Amino acid sequence: MYDALVVGAGPAGATAAFLLARSGISTVILDKSVLPRKKICGGLITAHCSAEIKRLFGVEIPEEVHVEPPILTEWVIPPSGRENGFHNPSSRIQNIDRGRFDYWLTRMAVAEGATLLCSTELVDIRENHDALVARFRGENGIVKFRVSHLIGADGVYSTCRRRLYGGSQSTISVVQEYYAERGTFEDAFYLLFRGDISPIYAYVVPKDGCTVLGLGVHRSLGPPATVAFSRFRKWLSEEYDYEAGGFIRREGWSIPFGDVAYGEGRVLLIGDAGGFCEPFTGEGIYFGIESAKAAVTAILSKEDASGSVADLYRRVADPIGEKVREITDYVLTLTDEERERRIQEKRAKLVEQSKVLAAA
Ligand SMILES: Cc1cc2nc3c(=O)[nH]c(=O)nc-3n(C[C@H](O)[C@H](O)[C@H](O)COP(=O)(O)OP(=O)(O)OC[C@H]3O[C@@H](n4cnc5c(N)ncnc54)[C@H](O)[C@@H]3O)c2cc1C
Repeated sequence: MYDALVVGAGPAGATAAFLLARSGISTVILDKSVLPRKKICGGLITAHCSAEIKRLFGVEIPEEVHVEPPILTEWVIPPSGRENGFHNPSSRIQNIDRGRFDYWLTRMAVAEGATLLCSTELVDIRENHDALVARFRGENGIVKFRVSHLIGADGVYSTCRRRLYGGSQSTISVVQEYYAERGTFEDAFYLLFRGDISPIYAYVVPKDGCTVLGLGVHRSLGPPATVAFSRFRKWLSEEYDYEAGGFIRREGWSIPFGDVAYGEGRVLLIGDAGGFCEPFTGEGIYFGIESAKAAVTAILSKEDASGSVADLYRRVADPIGEKVREITDYVLTLTDEERERRIQEKRAKLVEQSKVLAAA
């Protein structure tokens, strides 16, 4: 019997397994895929996220995980266009391949003593006296595990979450198109904000010689993907003379949209499974890691606290959940005037900071 079972070897699950194993908890981490698996993602790690990874894992994200160019700065463009945008030359965003990144984190968990099982898909969880029984479909049929705690880190369409609450969570789709044409973009992550294109934002990222165009789509808050992409490409052509050519592929997946759920009893939901993703920027890796830390804190402190481990986790992770809910409400009422105001405010702050730095 293991003390903890983690379902899903994405950044949330791998971090939880790493922290549990490092604390001496016998841990198994399972994934339905063969690792490294493909994950549809922009693959961008913000500076605060990479600093947290360095603090937790004790090492920098290794070179083999990066794509070209490995480090990007940030350009933010408001609805009124490029000339009112700003560049943040000191931003350091790491440009990674998600399959390799997630596998690296999972191997760190294994190096700490966690047991990894691939091609093993969770099908069912049952309470049985003093333990949980989780059933998985593996290569050789059904496997059962009796565990004290189960962490559901199985992504936005989480089976763990459906077993606890039924139904599926509220989501936004993020769609990406890959083009061979590079245009004249800098080695930067371009975030472009215009409500008639996306209720969150549209972006441009260079990846291994391609240009990736991406945007968020919500069924009632903005246009469908085809309309959104044709407006986006037109805007890029007007602002950057960019003619998207050499189409390679289109892909899409969902991100959570404000529907936070912590779990019940001995089952804790983290990362996308728990709805922990910043809905405005789509930043889910950092929130996955933060919720994993909270879940491990709850498991490690359980003996000293009353109530279930899920109650304790709810208390520890509530500030993260609250932040996600607040940002979701903000997105729901966002107008182009507000997008413009917010970006101009940030731009002014950046100009102020650079004046202070120049004077120092
Ligand atoms: C197009 C797009 C672009 C994005 N860009 C960024 C970005 O640039 N930066 C950023 O921070 N975030 C980004 N995100 C969000 C980010 O990808 C997610 O928030 C993040 O992957 C969540 O991590 P996780 O560990 O919770 O889940 P996941 O990474 O989804 O991992 C879940 C794992 O669970 C496994 N699994 C699923 N079901 C089962 C089961 N029943 N049994 C066993 N295993 C199972 C899956 O195989 C998978 O490996 C983007 C999302 C999309 C869709």
